[in-house]
Amino acid sequence: MLFNHDVVIVGAGGAGLMAALYAKEGGADVAVVSKLHPLRSHTGAAQGGIGAALANEEEDHWMWHAFDTIKGSDYIGDQDAILIMCQDAPRTIIELEHYGVPFSRNKQGLISQRRFGGHTRNYGESAVRRACHAADRTGHAILHTLYDQCTRKGVRFYDEFQVLDLLQTPDGTVNGVVAYEILSGDLHTFHAKHVCFATGGYGRAFQTTSNAHAGTGDGLALTLRAGIPLEDMEFVQFHPTGLYRLGILITEGARGEGGILRNNSGERFMERYAPTVKDLAPRDLISQAIYKEIREGRGINGEPYVYLDMTHVGADILEKKLPEITTFSRTYLGVDPVTQPIPIAPTCHYAMGGIPTDYNGQVEKGQRGDFVQGFYAAGECACVSIHGANRLGTNSLTDLVVFGRRVGMHMAERLRTEGRTKEPLIADPEKRTREMLDGILARQDGENVATVRADLQDSMMKGVSVFRTDETLTEALSDLKTLRARARATTVRDKGKRFNTDLLDAVELQHMVEYAEAIAAGALRRTESRGAHSRDDYPSRDDAAWLKHTLYWSNGEGEYRFADKPVTMKTDEFPQFKPKERKY
Ligand SMILES: Cc1cc2nc3c(=O)[nH]c(=O)nc-3n(C[C@H](O)[C@H](O)[C@H](O)COP(=O)(O)OP(=O)(O)OC[C@H]3O[C@@H](n4cnc5c(N)ncnc54)[C@H](O)[C@@H]3O)c2cc1C
Repeated sequence: MLFNHDVVIVGAGGAGLMAALYAKEGGADVAVVSKLHPLRSHTGAAQGGIGAALANEEEDHWMWHAFDTIKGSDYIGDQDAILIMCQDAPRTIIELEHYGVPFSRNKQGLISQRRFGGHTRNYGESAVRRACHAADRTGHAILHTLYDQCTRKGVRFYDEFQVLDLLQTPDGTVNGVVAYEILSGDLHTFHAKHVCFATGGYGRAFQTTSNAHAGTGDGLALTLRAGIPLEDMEFVQFHPTGLYRLGILITEGARGEGGILRNNSGERFMERYAPTVKDLAPRDLISQAIYKEIREGRGINGEPYVYLDMTHVGADILEKKLPEITTFSRTYLGVDPVTQPIPIAPTCHYAMGGIPTDYNGQVEKGQRGDFVQGFYAAGECACVSIHGANRLGTNSLTDLVVFGRRVGMHMAERLRTEGRTKEPLIADPEKRTREMLDGILARQDGENVATVRADLQDSMMKGVSVFRTDETLTEALSDLKTLRARARATTVRDKGKRFNTDLLDAVELQHMVEYAEAIAAGALRRTESRGAHSRDDYPSRDDAAWLKHTLYWSNGEGEYRFADKPVTMKTDEFPQFKPKERKY
């Protein structure tokens, strides 16, 4: 079928729903197309908080928030966009509160705020309470409220429709998408004036991850295929505290409420790595510290994990402020955090890189200000770039709501002022997708998808995770060559039309190979250590050579090229934002 809307948003997490809500309020006819039911989006799993300098608990300023975000990014976040986000965050939180988000309260009845890694008062003096939260189910509360509001305002939802192609005119203007209806197996074309990708993260390329199964980077792969670059893909965040072996997240809020990391001898080892903020250092530093402890033989009983000790925090705080993670630990590990330390190890968590956009979410072709007409991106799949080389905890939810809102408003404003008609669709827009799916269904005697996916996740984990070297990265890239061929030869057993998740798994695997190559190739090219990108063979940050963003294009056949993009600095106005060595 052919569906017509002014605006088509792909993805129904926090970023997609925020964009939908504000585009709709701005008078646009808005559709949200999502491969999951909106309430199953990964935003619903966000636990610990959303950052904004509300100063409800103690003195705080959005400028301190901006400084922390820039320092956290290891100085390659774009400072103009960071200033916008931190200044806009308090107002956006109040708007969310007015929409009905049930935030936790402090004794004065204000939104409760707690400490989180890398968030400080007065430019690094000590930790500050900046994370607004709804117990440790913050994302769940935000997602449900936004879905309510979108439904109330008449946003049109197409649930369980998986987008498989981005449509463009011959001159590259984006004017729609092709989606596969999971229930029926039918293909549909969506014709639009503006398309916004809000397809979330891609942690599923790694064996140990906190990300949901749907985090397969579809939006990134479709963008690359359209000849549009990806930015800063080498920066992948490993969160320090995943449940050992499972990767399920234990929020940083646990350390914000007083939790302590300990090694085999019971030592609070973060005192050595970050003497001022200790266990509340940013994630890149803590994950690297945990791996150093493990490598040097101080993992628990010589095994590759350490402890998160909450036993001194007390049952009351654990049950009231951290109920979710307390239950996770009891259910999945049989460990009661009230009386026992929790075994944890780093887990792949967040993609700093993604589709390059300006601070209104307009996708850029390469140079700043050179936009792909009709195309926007928001949320974790986008690279604005706020998070640079390392995202601070609570800043993703802030990014979603601030930039999701801006994208929605920008699209609506353009529709009102430009009054243009839709660019005509190409002939038979579903052809490419139909042929791709028929090709997969016709394959015989190949490997099954799960085997190839497990090998991909294993290669990425071994070669491209917390510590990287020329050797590990070269090996991963060589594995990826073989994996691309293997992914293209997999056989799906289910040949039917209804809920053929086998078929979609095969498509997603091909996407995973494409962006995995972007991560590994970007990491090999960047011969320095910065934020989450840590090279054993280049252990220092090298501002002279590498204070810049990476752009990556690929032809989908293993040939790729790079370009650099300058970082936007505001250091003339704000000298405190000048790059310095990061100490905490
Ligand atoms: C366990 C966990 C806890 C976290 N806790 C926090 C926290 O406390 N604070 C914080 O700031 N951040 C946190 N984060 C990070 C944050 O939650 C995510 O970065 C953020 O929610 C991503 O939102 P999004 O809207 O970009 O995408 P998502 O919420 O991931 O949604 C992606 C959407 O895209 C759709 N989609 C994807 N591909 C397709 C396709 N091909 N066709 C159609 N639809 C598609 C999906 O159906 C889904 O609706 C956490 C992350 C995890 C995993």
